[in-house]
Formats: sequence, C-alpha cells, structure tokens
Amino acid sequence: MTEASQTSSAAWTARSLKSVWHPCTQMQHHETTPLLAVSRGKGAWLFDHEGRRYLDAISSWWVNLFGHANPRINLALKDQLDRLEHAMLAGFTHEPVVQLSEQLSARTGNTLGHCFYASDGASAVEIALKMSFHYWRNTGKPDKREFVCLRGSYHGETLGALSVTDVALFRDAYGPLLGKPHITDSPDARQAGEGETAADQARRAAAALEDLLNERAGSVAAVIVEPLVQCATGMAMHDPLYLVLLRDLCNRYDVHLIADEIAVGCGRTGTFFASEQAAIWPDFMLLSKGITGGYLPLSLVMTRQHIYDAFYSDEVSKAFLHSHSYTGNPLACRAALATLQIFEEDDVLNANHVLAGKITRAFGTLAEHPKVRNFRQCGMIWAFDAQVNDADTSFARRFFTIGLESGLLLRPIGNTVYVMPPYILDDNEVMHLANSVQTVFEKALMS
Ligand SMILES: *Cc1c(COP(=O)(O)O)cnc(C)c1O
Repeated sequence: MTEASQTSSAAWTARSLKSVWHPCTQMQHHETTPLLAVSRGKGAWLFDHEGRRYLDAISSWWVNLFGHANPRINLALKDQLDRLEHAMLAGFTHEPVVQLSEQLSARTGNTLGHCFYASDGASAVEIALKMSFHYWRNTGKPDKREFVCLRGSYHGETLGALSVTDVALFRDAYGPLLGKPHITDSPDARQAGEGETAADQARRAAAALEDLLNERAGSVAAVIVEPLVQCATGMAMHDPLYLVLLRDLCNRYDVHLIADEIAVGCGRTGTFFASEQAAIWPDFMLLSKGITGGYLPLSLVMTRQHIYDAFYSDEVSKAFLHSHSYTGNPLACRAALATLQIFEEDDVLNANHVLAGKITRAFGTLAEHPKVRNFRQCGMIWAFDAQVNDADTSFARRFFTIGLESGLLLRPIGNTVYVMPPYILDDNEVMHLANSVQTVFEKALMS
C-alpha cells in the first residue's frame, strides 16, 4: 500500500475538487452534493476509503455488466498485458480485434460483417454519420447529407453526435456550433393517448417520419435511433413495432438506418442486440459502454457488405477517412472477448430473464406508490417518473445524496428514477436494491 491509498475519502475529495474538472457537472453543486472517492470495487459494489460500500445500481454509467474486479475479465487482461498492450490498426492487425469482429458479426448472422473501431460512443456516432454520407457520395448521391433523429434522442456530446442529440440544455449552450438535423416524433409509449397502446404511438410516430421522408428523402442520408429505450433523456421505452416500421421506411425511401445500441446493446434489453426484438438489422450498428464489461473504452460501428463495397476502390478519396490513435486497442478488445465469453458460459440472456423477474417482483409495491408515474421495465432497465413539484429542480441530487447514505448509487435523470444494475445481483442484493430505492424515494419526496 502506498501512503496515498491510505488517505481518507475526504482528503481525496478535497484534492479532486481543486484539480479535476468533473464531467457534465456544475462544479458549484459540489458545495452541497457529495463527491465520492472510490478506493476499490468488487462485484456490484463500490467501496470508499473508509470501507463504506455502495450498490452500483446504474452500472457506473451503464458500462459494467459483470461486476467490478470480475475475476474472468481480470485474468484475460493480465494475460493480454504480457502479450501486446497496443499496436496501431492501420497497416497492422492482431488476434483480439480479429476474433472480436468475427464473433460480433456472427451474432448478426454476418449481415453486419464489417467492424470499424473507435474508443468512445460519441466517436462511433461520428463514424456512422460520416460513413453514411460518404457512402452516398461514393455512389453518386452527394446531396444525401441530412440526418434525422428522434425527439428526446441522445447520441453523445462531440459536435457531430451532439447535432443529432435533442436535449434543450445542450442545444441552448452549443447550438451555434451544431448541424441542423430533422427531429421527428418519438414513439415513447408514455405519449399514447387514453385507450391507446404503445403500438398505436409507434404507428403515429412512424407516420410522422413517413411524411418527412416523403418530402426530404432525396436529401436525407440516415435516420439514427436508440432501439427500444431512449436512455439518457429519461428511459423512454417504445414498442418494437416502431423498429419494424422504421426499417421498412428506410428501405422504401432509400435512407440508412443507424441503430445506436451503445446503451441498449450487450443484453441490456433482454436480447443481445435490442434490434433483434423487432427482427430487423440496421445498416449501421453502434456498440460501446457494456462491450468491454465496463473495463476499457472501446466502441465500434458494424455495417453491411454493400456499404463496405462502396468504399472499395483504387481511389484513396473513396476510402473511409477516419482514425483514432487507440483504434482497436488490444487490451480493450480482449476485455470485450472475455465479456462475450461470459455471455456464452453463463447463458446470460436466459439468466437475466430470471433475474429481471425477481427484481420486478421485489419492486412490486413501489409501482403502486401514489407519487410514482409510468413504472416501466425493459430487460434489465427499470424506470419511473416521480411526481414532484415542477419548481423542484433538486430532486435528482437529493435522491443521489440520500441514496449514498443508504449504500445505494443511483442518479435520477430529472424526475425519472431508473435502475440499470450489473447482471450479477444475488438475492440479498436484489432486496437491498428494492428496499433502498423505496426508502430513499420516500425520503427524497419529503425533504
Ligand atoms: C452514452 C451514449 C453515447 C455516447 O457514448 P460516450 O462513450 O459517452 O461518448 C451515445 N449514444 C447513446 C445511446 C449513449 O447512451
């Protein structure tokens, strides 16, 4: 143990606030909202320097699938560390990136047989947008350069990704720097009217998109969607029918479909890819977050043969012009391979089905709470909207703070409380999760 690692949580927090600028944070809020110094993680738990533990109910921003310090992923990484930590991917290749590409392609029946790599989710979005535009340019349709996103979409925070993100706060702040997408209706099931089903809302949203494509398809390169759950803007869930209709519209109007499965992929919604629940494949499939089990930054864009072929030429300018220094990092790919192996060895999709049933039953009475609206679930995601006063802007931060006092790490999005746990909770952890969410919710309502 170094001297530094014995220092108290409070000391690390104070030093962090002086030197580290934390992401997506109004730093002044840390005058009242705690900053947690994590010293280690084990399974579903994070520990501070005093040994207090917190159940990581949001999988550390949705990335951790099989727990912290997972023995199988650790072992794979230690082995990879002694072989090859990194080599550039232009002009070179290596076992982990080949195996990962083959295994992921196989999971799409080789429909999406070509994998392009980057490090963060937002970069995968940039790649898909550029690739779509460049495909149309290479095939003699350079006018197809507009993009369509959904109301309430979130695709990341670099400028291209932010352009197709519909978050008012971001658009107000950075609007002058951004491209102007077409924003079409969301199939969000909460918008179904009295006596209507989620499928009715899906049909209405698809009809609105058809109107748009009718007019603009000649200028539109692609539609980008978060299949089944629009996560970051508040866990808006929709009927898989929307994806069926969307696939059909994209075919009929000759527009690419980009499925951003960065949050919903890797088993989060119950199938390995969310798109599987609509029995469709997009033209571009984006993965990141859970793909390395939450260990290392890695993202990728999977695409089809005919798209790949449109770049294959004796002209350099027809090649896809994009690269990052750490593209296809072997350690990250190896963590992803270990993650995929756990999916196979532990029959994770079936096991999650059982686990999800237990968690839903444990939440039982919460769904009936008078201040709970729209209790909803999709695979390993649960969410509800807390009915709080419109003027109450600090509910989320209160919930987070009270949660920590109860050993629960949970950060609501506005008034939406959601749980997105790692796939490894045991029965005690399920009970701790359900009980503490209920207790913390009630305290957060009262304070
Ligand atoms: C998190 C997220 C991104 C961005 O990924 P980063 O790694 O944070 O850049 C993009 N799309 C969706 C749907 C996400 O949830």
